[in-house]
Amino acid sequence: MGTDSCNIDIEVGSNDPDLVSRSAKPEGTIVNIGGVKVGGEAIVVMAGPCAVESEGQLMETAKLVRAGGASLLRGGAFKPRTSPYSFQGLGVQGLEMLARAREATGLSVVSEVMDTRQVETVARYADMLQIGSRNMQNFPLLKEAGSTSMPILLKRGMMATIDEYLHAAEYVLSQGNPNIILCERGIRTFEPSTRYTLDLNAIPILKQRTHLPVIVDPSHGTGLRSLVPTMAKASIAAGADGLLMEVHYHPEEALCDGSQSLFPEDFDSLMKDLDKVAEAIGRRIHKL
Ligand code: PEP
Ligand code: MN
Repeated sequence: MGTDSCNIDIEVGSNDPDLVSRSAKPEGTIVNIGGVKVGGEAIVVMAGPCAVESEGQLMETAKLVRAGGASLLRGGAFKPRTSPYSFQGLGVQGLEMLARAREATGLSVVSEVMDTRQVETVARYADMLQIGSRNMQNFPLLKEAGSTSMPILLKRGMMATIDEYLHAAEYVLSQGNPNIILCERGIRTFEPSTRYTLDLNAIPILKQRTHLPVIVDPSHGTGLRSLVPTMAKASIAAGADGLLMEVHYHPEEALCDGSQSLFPEDFDSLMKDLDKVAEAIGRRIHKL
């Protein structure tokens, strides 16, 4: 018997943890966020600024993404920044602004939680808790999120393998919360032309190995506004169930991630293109 790795015949994903694995649950999970279903036929677009910066910034951006066809509003109130001197987010004030933007637009809200002590607070204002790339293996946070019944947007660690990612999702599921959406957001490679390397392979691999919905964040995945529309379309063509994108009413003034944030007109024209890509693969973009 050959020991060459080409000859080893193991079923892909056969060692995946129990609860996340597709073999344990062949039908796809559908996660319901305030009435918006992710994981079904419709593709869900989540958009908004990287960070909540002010009432005006959030409200204007929320209205424009709603008008363009987004179904969820994103915006961080607690921001994981590389430098402790960078803008850290508005905290609870930012969450209150998100709740008012939801009221004004009808968009459900997703916002990041970085610490077990923030879970209860963020859950009070948001419709979905985001666990960011830097916290994908924050096991106490995963367990705390798993002890709620909130939808959880679990982003892939920038240096995590698919195997590690699935195990992180298993932490949440193992506590009894099945409402998890996975998000490919780019990984660290040797390539410095982009902020991260968006791993399009992850979409079909995750769809094969787990029943959980898979969305893509082409904003962090590229770090470059000019690449976001192309990679958003590619992600839908590759089978993603949704997109998470940064849009700002004045990207040049953004306190965080302005260079990867779409201008309002870019977002509008991308949404029109996404309708066509979705139709080509027998799906549609969810509209409120
Ligand atoms: C974000 O969505 O603003 C964010 C910080 O993303 P990530 O955790 O993927 O870097
Ligand atoms: Mn960001």
